[in-house]
Amino acid sequence: MHCADIVSLLDSATDADKALVKKAYEFAEKAHAGQLRKSGDPYFTHVYETAKILAELKMDAAAVAAGLLHDTVEDGLMSEETIRKEFGDEILFLIRGVTKLGKVKYRGGERYIENLRKFVVAAAEDIRVLVIKIADRLHNMRTLGALREDKRERIALETLEIYAPLADRLSIRLVAREMEDLAFKYLHPAEYEAAVKIVKAKTKETMPRLEKFAQSVKKALAENGLTSFKMDYRQKGVYSLYKKLAAHEGDIEKIYDILAIRIRVDTVAECYQALGIIHGIWRPMPGRIKDYIASPKANGYRSLHTTVFTGDGSVVEIQIRTNEMHYDSEYGRASHAVYKKQGSKGVSSHSEAKWFARFLPEIINYSAEVSPRAETATPKWIRDLAATQQEAATDLEKREIVRDMKADFFHERIFVLTPKGDVIDLPKGATPIDFAYAIHSSVGEHVSGARVNGRMIGIDTELHNSDIVEIITKPSSKPSVKWLDIAKTTMARRHINNWLEKNRKK
Ligand code: MN
Repeated sequence: MHCADIVSLLDSATDADKALVKKAYEFAEKAHAGQLRKSGDPYFTHVYETAKILAELKMDAAAVAAGLLHDTVEDGLMSEETIRKEFGDEILFLIRGVTKLGKVKYRGGERYIENLRKFVVAAAEDIRVLVIKIADRLHNMRTLGALREDKRERIALETLEIYAPLADRLSIRLVAREMEDLAFKYLHPAEYEAAVKIVKAKTKETMPRLEKFAQSVKKALAENGLTSFKMDYRQKGVYSLYKKLAAHEGDIEKIYDILAIRIRVDTVAECYQALGIIHGIWRPMPGRIKDYIASPKANGYRSLHTTVFTGDGSVVEIQIRTNEMHYDSEYGRASHAVYKKQGSKGVSSHSEAKWFARFLPEIINYSAEVSPRAETATPKWIRDLAATQQEAATDLEKREIVRDMKADFFHERIFVLTPKGDVIDLPKGATPIDFAYAIHSSVGEHVSGARVNGRMIGIDTELHNSDIVEIITKPSSKPSVKWLDIAKTTMARRHINNWLEKNRKK
């Protein structure tokens, strides 16, 4: 473990960037001195590895520094004031965001899963917070073996249901794949072993033929004028193979992409040129040519895929993309999109716009009414993304983007947590009465008070985003007409009305 290992991974770092990371490194090392993880490793290894993942993902120096510091406040080692004094508001803001995300817990079941995904997106006011949390979770998954079995299962499930899909939607495929495979191993060990066996056997069986074929492809490309390209193999993730097998009734012969050949070129034109050369020599399998360059996947993935008959009785999948597309799909595009240096030519903001427009509605399936106030309450990082994209968009696209933004729910909804970390989705202005009825009508009927973030409050107090709410019930407490004014949700009001009606008759 050396600070230099992290610093060397930073992208075009200034002296100030390097100094910041070094300072955070030394600060965290001191703060966690003597602390051990469940595995027996020094605690510092965890924050070190988290920061290293962030540097590998080419996050900026502030995010990397926050990665080093992310557990110093939560574990009570340092006060927020100290962090602010030493590192400033930006770093403190990032650390707070990560801590907030750490409060939610998913223990299975469909009831809270969408709430939780939405909460994570809404709570991460800055996209870097989300990526830091993802890096933190990846390292925790790598070292999950040291935890108690029930804890292992909960964390693995949460990773598979929440964090791996988020990593995938941010198109950090490299991380999503590792998370999926690690979680799969803990949640379904037998199925995992079986899938690993299949991958190993298939690799052993096909590799020699594949290598021979790859040589012919290389030669063909070079002979037809493509001189600068790179070629490697892509092995399918164990979990994604498992899912695909399940979709094909376990028929391994129907799965052609356990091992694929990957060709990287410099330009989009060369992608199509390579595809043309290959199809001119080896017959493509009908229905298996996919142009994800013309029509990218929902998470922004771009590439050409084809499956060809090699002539020796086997079929091989070939993926063709530019170096830039390759980088985007493995390390994510969102993470560096917002912070891209001025004037650098990267992904066009036009394609960003499309990517973004797809990102929101997929996570947030709200058909809320268009609200003129929505814009101001949308997390800044989402507004930033939208702003950079709007520049290059056509008028129609602009209108679409704005519509998507406004249809979003951020201004109208709040997300509050139960003491166990379940996320409850409520309208803005909701009170403990709404919260209690959202848990269960029997809780609602006997609310007498509430504790919010550890403090007692009245049942008519407005709740706020990411409050932790604990309801206090009393058998003698019951609904009254006054509650109808306090409750904001239709569900709570309906329950209260029903109760009043029933008890009036009595
Ligand atoms: Mn951590």
